[in-house]
Amino acid sequence: MTDTTTLERTTPSATTILDHWVDGAAWAGASARTSPVFNPALGTVQKEVRLASTADVAAAVDSASAAWLGWRDASIAKRQTVMFAFRELLNARKDELAQILTSEHGKVLSDAHGEIARGMEVVEFACGLGHLTKGAYSENVSTGIDVYTLRQPLGVVGIISPFNFPAMVPLWFFSIALAAGNAVILKPSEKDPSAANWMAALLKEAGLPDGVLNVVHGDKEAVDALLEHPDVRAISFVGSTPLARYVYETATGHGKRVQALGGAKNHMLILPDADLDLAADAAVNAGFGSAGERCMAISVVLAVDTIADEFVEKVSQRMATLRTGDGTRGCDMGPLITGQHRDKVSSYIDVAGTDGATVVVDGRDVEPDGDPDGFWLGPTLIDNVPTSSAVYKDEIFGPVLSVVRVDGYQEGLGIINSSLYGNGTAIFTNDGGAARRFQREVQVGMIGINVPIPVPVAYHSFGGWKASLFGDAKAYGPHGFDFFTAEKAITSRWLDPSHGGLNLGFPQHD
Ligand code: NAD
Repeated sequence: MTDTTTLERTTPSATTILDHWVDGAAWAGASARTSPVFNPALGTVQKEVRLASTADVAAAVDSASAAWLGWRDASIAKRQTVMFAFRELLNARKDELAQILTSEHGKVLSDAHGEIARGMEVVEFACGLGHLTKGAYSENVSTGIDVYTLRQPLGVVGIISPFNFPAMVPLWFFSIALAAGNAVILKPSEKDPSAANWMAALLKEAGLPDGVLNVVHGDKEAVDALLEHPDVRAISFVGSTPLARYVYETATGHGKRVQALGGAKNHMLILPDADLDLAADAAVNAGFGSAGERCMAISVVLAVDTIADEFVEKVSQRMATLRTGDGTRGCDMGPLITGQHRDKVSSYIDVAGTDGATVVVDGRDVEPDGDPDGFWLGPTLIDNVPTSSAVYKDEIFGPVLSVVRVDGYQEGLGIINSSLYGNGTAIFTNDGGAARRFQREVQVGMIGINVPIPVPVAYHSFGGWKASLFGDAKAYGPHGFDFFTAEKAITSRWLDPSHGGLNLGFPQHD
């Protein structure tokens, strides 16, 4: 067999099977299909995960619908208590979760802890639901009449998450969805699914009633079942752009509220007056952290010609100090998620040569501190990348940093604004006027000024523009609470001697 995925399955008797989590317990469902879960640092299968059928998803939705009736009526105080308890348990046991992330995703342990910390921020934000779900009240809008608004949970909501943040992305969504009083079906990536079950069990321990958070594992069949199920009221999706577009179109076509966050190609513009040491540190951290498998990774540096040679030299010097290897061994960068993905990413290094770019550091030469069968590719730096090349245009999603040389601010801005994507971007400069102009003119959702990965804190919202986000609502923050609740406006009059009389016209204020 020539299928790379099959060749990677070097442990023939992968006996552990990860079940779904439905109604507060592990659940096998009826489907017999499974998918392998690798340890990317070893290149072996460590378990199989179940892939739900349409009927399995329907059973989970039934469980969630029944549980929702109680959870929607739980007081704000009760829901806050559960979220606080979950935050405390997560903090106390985060080492366990970090181990799971490293063993299935491959990211180094320190980065796994960073992922958990950023996810926990959203749990902390969700603990403030008492403030966030408050409505507004206007007294005496017309004689004796008051108007007020309140926000109510939607019902059962679906969350579909990508492989690259198996804990943080689910935490972005389910923390707020649950705090707002919804029931959740989480469909995590089948590549690193265990974190979802671990968090679901922890929520149970924190006091979340059974059935309020369910985890259904699966692939396209499970996703389609969620997108089409009449009792699923909203979908939060994060993944690649073609799938985000598909999810948005399919789920809105089925009458659902949808936020679908897609892929990215993030640029860092370096002006000649920038602190080049700061910029080089930032480019290396943001380009190669988590092996470049981050939607906010910097994948393109736009370097102004006058400083480009010096900048490339500084970056290559720093890259020489990086250790690639097993995430449990204190390395800087781990393996890629699968052998197939590693091969795809490394194929761009060949494309670079063909397209006339200069490969300055070739990650294929890496000597990893880890098992030879791991899915390794070292940090790669490619200079003089033409914007017509697939190396520039495609979301490579690996440790490949491209340098595109530009003649100044205006050319750099034009390149960023012509991109299909608009997730994140950064400018490095010591000129406040240039930075201010950039933040006004750039067509991107999240902008860093001398900050390479501008992921907003939990009390702002996260989301890109253009093909990086389909739908109006960003993730978490105020957008998150709005997304997971529906507003009602109530106009009320309590009987007063001034009432009465027939009037078939539209109400007016006299
Ligand atoms: P992906 O698009 O392959 O998968 C995302 C989800 O869709 C997974 O749960 C997967 O099981 C499911 N899926 C797979 N095939 C499907 C199909 N045919 N139909 C329906 N659903 C299907 O993404 P990935 O490789 O897991 O994650 C990496 C991508 O996610 C990158 O493009 C990255 O930029 C993006 N991402 C974006 C953000 C953001 O905030 N914008 C954050 C993290 C990751």
